[in-house]
Amino acid sequence: AKAHGRNTFRFYTREMNTQVADRLQLENRLRHALEQDELFLLFQPQYDINSNALIGCEVLLRWQDPQEGLIMPSRFIPIAEDSGLIVPLGRWVMREACMQMARWRQQGLLLPKIAVNVSALQLTRMDFIDDVRAALEESGLPGNCLEIEVTESTLMEDADLAARQLSILKAMGVRLSVDDFGTGYSSLAYLKRFAPDTIKIDRSFVCELPGDSEDAAIVSAIIHLARALGMSTLAEGVETEAQHHYLRELGCGGIQGYLLGKPQSADSLAAQLDAAIL
Ligand code: C2E
Ligand code: CA
Ligand code: CA
Ligand code: CA
Repeated sequence: AKAHGRNTFRFYTREMNTQVADRLQLENRLRHALEQDELFLLFQPQYDINSNALIGCEVLLRWQDPQEGLIMPSRFIPIAEDSGLIVPLGRWVMREACMQMARWRQQGLLLPKIAVNVSALQLTRMDFIDDVRAALEESGLPGNCLEIEVTESTLMEDADLAARQLSILKAMGVRLSVDDFGTGYSSLAYLKRFAPDTIKIDRSFVCELPGDSEDAAIVSAIIHLARALGMSTLAEGVETEAQHHYLRELGCGGIQGYLLGKPQSADSLAAQLDAAIL
């Protein structure tokens, strides 16, 4: 098609139509995935960098499509956000996550907290608070078992509303962590205003440690800033011993990454917890 001017246009048009159709089709399938039980959760452990104690786990959504197989969130979360599907989807994640946490506790496995990713569209809806309250009540969990992870851009979407919602959640004991810190349009004023419990240092600053001196400077600055503001830090995407040791030297509080644990099933994490108790 490239050799012929007129056909080139038609070629790209068809290509674009295909993309739009794909997206629409995925959106429709995602709509049904919720009801048809095709979504499930994985849990990635988070550790105290000094004691190696398990301090929590992050909840990560997966979609097992009967035809296509496993679909990762990078493919369907943006579509869910654009279409508004993230609201019922996120509500389901919150409920399931709290119920799983309650199940672990019934088994005598004590995990301090569970961290759930929350999109801007969820946080800025008035009924989000009700959803969280219902998930906690249904599972019988105290608020401080739950942490929500939001990105800087989520906080800035509608900052006044976000601040009101977050202060209600804080009063319920729910903890806040700022996800992917430093990769969005960070404003230090937002850190002061939202006073998160934890700052998550993005994987992009971690992956080239300890060799990259600029990344080292950035990570060190984030850790010092957090400490001065009374917030804890957690580095994500830690894959090597060298990164682990270096982050410990810099004074980072917690780590999460393939080195110490991949996203895994609830049973697999329970087996780890069990081993830690014994
Ligand atoms: P995120 O919140 O930054 O989550 C961390 C991502 O890094 C996860 O990808 C995790 O599997 C991956 N990861 C963890 N450790 C390592 C490591 O050592 N090396 C590397 N290379 N990667 C690591 P995942 O599960 O594909 O999720 C991608 C993104 O999708 C998440 O990024 C989050 O923004 C979004 N997401 C996932 N689940 C949910 C959800 O329930 N709700 C919402 N709103 N977003 C979600
Ligand atoms: Ca996250
Ligand atoms: Ca993150
Ligand atoms: Ca990230």
